[in-house]
Amino acid sequence: MPSTLAHAPKPIHKVLIANRGEIAWRILRTAREMGIETVAVFSEADRYAPHVRHADWAFPIGPPPSTASYLRGGHLIQLALEQECQAIHPGYGFLSENASFAKAVEEAGLLLVGPSSKSMEAMGNKVAAKQAVAGYEIPLVPGTDHPVSDPNQAAEIAEGIGFPLLIKAAAGGGGKGMRIVTKIEELNESLNLAISEATNAFGNGSVFLEKYIAAPRHIEIQLMADDFGNIIYLFERECSIQRRHQKLIEEAPSSCLDPSLRIAMGEAAVRVALACGYRNAGTVEFLLDENNRFYFLEMNTRLQVEHPVTEYITGLDLVRLQFEITAGLPLSIRQEDLRINGHSIELRICAEDPRNQFLPDLGKLIRFHPPQGPGIRLDSGYEEGMDIPVHYDPLLAKLIVHAPDRLAAIARMKRALDEFELSGPATTLDFGRWVMSQRDFVEGRFDTGFIAKYFRGSESLDTPLPPWESSAEGNPLSFSEEIAIAAVVLQHQFSSQEVQNSQPDAPFVSDAWHQLWKNN
Ligand code: ADP
Repeated sequence: MPSTLAHAPKPIHKVLIANRGEIAWRILRTAREMGIETVAVFSEADRYAPHVRHADWAFPIGPPPSTASYLRGGHLIQLALEQECQAIHPGYGFLSENASFAKAVEEAGLLLVGPSSKSMEAMGNKVAAKQAVAGYEIPLVPGTDHPVSDPNQAAEIAEGIGFPLLIKAAAGGGGKGMRIVTKIEELNESLNLAISEATNAFGNGSVFLEKYIAAPRHIEIQLMADDFGNIIYLFERECSIQRRHQKLIEEAPSSCLDPSLRIAMGEAAVRVALACGYRNAGTVEFLLDENNRFYFLEMNTRLQVEHPVTEYITGLDLVRLQFEITAGLPLSIRQEDLRINGHSIELRICAEDPRNQFLPDLGKLIRFHPPQGPGIRLDSGYEEGMDIPVHYDPLLAKLIVHAPDRLAAIARMKRALDEFELSGPATTLDFGRWVMSQRDFVEGRFDTGFIAKYFRGSESLDTPLPPWESSAEGNPLSFSEEIAIAAVVLQHQFSSQEVQNSQPDAPFVSDAWHQLWKNN
């Protein structure tokens, strides 16, 4: 059954990119390859950003604070209309999951490169999302599927869930709005604090209770859905290396999924998309517990930061697919055409100091000389000499590697990090190098508590570690051991049906776009 009413295909000749930094430049690149003209927007702080220079047109939209620039939805829509754009690509963050903005875009007669405002509304709030998937056989984290504010009711529910538990903001995002409660005595105070924090941070004080899953892994499924009822899953990404519940390193495929679990999670993700009539790129996030049971967390109704690892292992350009779907074309790939090709890892290069609790560290990018060579991709929003503005997310760039298997990808990431010359603000580069040398990471034995368990800031980064044999914690591998593990991993992969280095038979780039272009 089609997820929304299919409309007649309509080419996109010009798009306004309502974002900044690496994602604005990344969208611009695909748009250019597809023959779509680009309109960039920039705040005063981003006047010299590369995406501004590379766009066909660029317009100032206000002072640096995002509320005065990138979040002025009405202004951006007006600009898109004046510039005769057919579409707006929101990227991630800013207005990308704002259902009222999506609705305003629709009402202005423009296309949003993303889902409908209705699906966004259904999935935009964690409580609403849980309610929306009821009846679709989606395993939920034990807890409430409705907001809780009454202390007596909360105590009753908490006793049922057990401790520790999490109080989460329904409108939360970016790892914010979560509070762990370890015993009943803490509940009342935590509930009040959580409600006032949620009100201040998200303008919505609605909170709910959820069981705190011990030592989970964060596994998410990338989906693509068109207007014709076709939904495919592009396998998983593992994003368990997190600080403050925010991702720092992502990889695909996950080192802990076997083919049957991959199919089960992929199909569950497709059911989530069906539950909200989803169209375009979306991601269904799950937690996987120690017994390989998975639980639905939420759906992100947009392109994600970590999408390049999926692009590497599938050979697909996700932004291209987004544009094709938005233009009303059917998906040109079927589920059975998809294969996992090798392994990909992404490190988020953030201007924050791992020696100082990952707090933002801004300043001028004095030297910025990224690595090159086979299997390396850098998606950056900055160039040497630029000042990093205080107003936005500290993500400077993403370093993504691709190799035939996980061990080779780790070796490639290490090599790339060794080559990377960056000076100015403190960044997560040396933290990335440290993770790639940790025995538990290399052997695929980790969960979302990895940083808390092993990472000790400057002690980890600045003290030469003893050989792994004599170290119980933060244990790097010797080179010979890496080689030995590589042999075992390779053997395992050759026996797995799912991980193949073959390209699929079906073409990944459809001709439909060019046909549409020619005929319009
Ligand atoms: P956000 O929308 O802020 O990103 P999520 O619900 O997606 O919040 O969760 C972000 C991260 O927080 C997860 O990847 C996980 O590390 C942690 N987390 C969330 N819910 C739970 C839970 N019930 N138990 C344990 N960890 C959780």
